[in-house]
Amino acid sequence: MIQEQRAKVLSALEPRVRPEVFRAWCRDLDFIEVEENVVHVPAPNAFYRDWLERDLRRPLEEAFLAAFGRVPELVFRIREEAVDEPDPPDVPAPAPPPARPAEPLKSELALNPSFTFETFVAGPTNRLAHAAAVAVSEAPGRDHNPLFIHGGVGLGKTHLLQAVCRATLARNPFARILYLSCEHFVNDYITSMQKKHFESFRARYRGSDLLVIDDVHFLAGKPGSEEEFFHTFNALHGTQRQIVLSSDSPPRDIRTLSERLVSRFLSGCVARVDAPTFEMRVAILRRKAEMRSLDLPADVAAFVASRVQTNIRELDGAVNRLAFYRSLAGRPLDLALAQEALHDLASSPAPAQLRPAQVVEAVARYYGKKPQELQSRGWNKSISRARQVAMFLCKRHTSLSFAELGKTFDRDHSTVLYAVRHIEELARRDSSLKADVETLSRQLGV
Ligand code: ADP
Ligand code: MG
Repeated sequence: MIQEQRAKVLSALEPRVRPEVFRAWCRDLDFIEVEENVVHVPAPNAFYRDWLERDLRRPLEEAFLAAFGRVPELVFRIREEAVDEPDPPDVPAPAPPPARPAEPLKSELALNPSFTFETFVAGPTNRLAHAAAVAVSEAPGRDHNPLFIHGGVGLGKTHLLQAVCRATLARNPFARILYLSCEHFVNDYITSMQKKHFESFRARYRGSDLLVIDDVHFLAGKPGSEEEFFHTFNALHGTQRQIVLSSDSPPRDIRTLSERLVSRFLSGCVARVDAPTFEMRVAILRRKAEMRSLDLPADVAAFVASRVQTNIRELDGAVNRLAFYRSLAGRPLDLALAQEALHDLASSPAPAQLRPAQVVEAVARYYGKKPQELQSRGWNKSISRARQVAMFLCKRHTSLSFAELGKTFDRDHSTVLYAVRHIEELARRDSSLKADVETLSRQLGV
């Protein structure tokens, strides 16, 4: 995007965010127009990207609308070099958002400042995982080694892993902690192979006191990385250094994982996190609202908790949405305003359970395309519209999360999130699209 257009977006964005947020986070934003109507916004790391996705998507969409009269598909991505090069020397990690106090942290630890034990709500569905995580941070390498936390998407695994790092660091500021996603580990391993930097790779991993690897199921089907991980594991475990792992499934269910690694994982503490109970959901909503200084009446909390049931990340999203509507409306939050803000949740009381394949097939047939075309990477305008409608209907009528739908459509979750919102908004203005969606819903029997 040329400088002039970039400046236009930034000046439209400036009044839409708090001044200190704009200064710290937004001034250096880049916009890369990858094709007509698709704009990539690179971020130096995952933490920054998630923040952009969570807090900046709406203001940016509004800024684009104000600047150019249209809203492109915004895709927040980690900058390519940052993925290839695990320790980018010249890309400084952004400061944490100013709303939350910055804490001293080892520079290589990109932790989300709100993922602490204090902000974590423990209850019957995550009690063991929480207690084990606390115990590990109090006495690393002793009773629960490795600690293996597993469960579905958005149920607090990453939150707990990062809380362990933060609490360990608070007790011992000199602890050598490595926290990273398994994807990062695999990339790091590949880079060290390419550059023949094996020694420094090994020294780095085997020299840590606490190794925390998120989403370890990513090792499946990568025998080279798995082998290297196995040796790293043994080196650390053998010297009583703590290992904490998370995964989307229990050790035995991780496809293609070797038996020797499965048995290592099972040798410590395996704890599962499940979907929260109603009371936990209310408590989580209260905690999230408090963190955003949002007054959340009891009836509103109960309303949201009864509609968002399985994914805690969506509870978080609901609180963001409520805060946004509250600031737009300029009046205190009440049930009526909450219903308006969350109308899409309110209007689908008991979503019929369809399989994504059924939806994709029906949409493809309707638009005269092949189902594979909708699930492929190809870009062309008519396919792209059909794909977005399919994503929208899948989100509405299946129980899959954005991340899971991303897998179905070979896209990342932010693309699905955008598509769903985009179609939702467009259908309100465009009656022929609305009719398409209604006909399709009827055909699907929902
Ligand atoms: P996972 O890694 O299991 O997919 P995350 O740890 O990223 O899920 O959690 C998703 C969101 O839900 C985060 O914003 C996190 O803070 C929040 N969350 C999850 N579990 C809890 C909990 N028990 N208490 C408070 N917040 C939670
Ligand atoms: Mg996670």
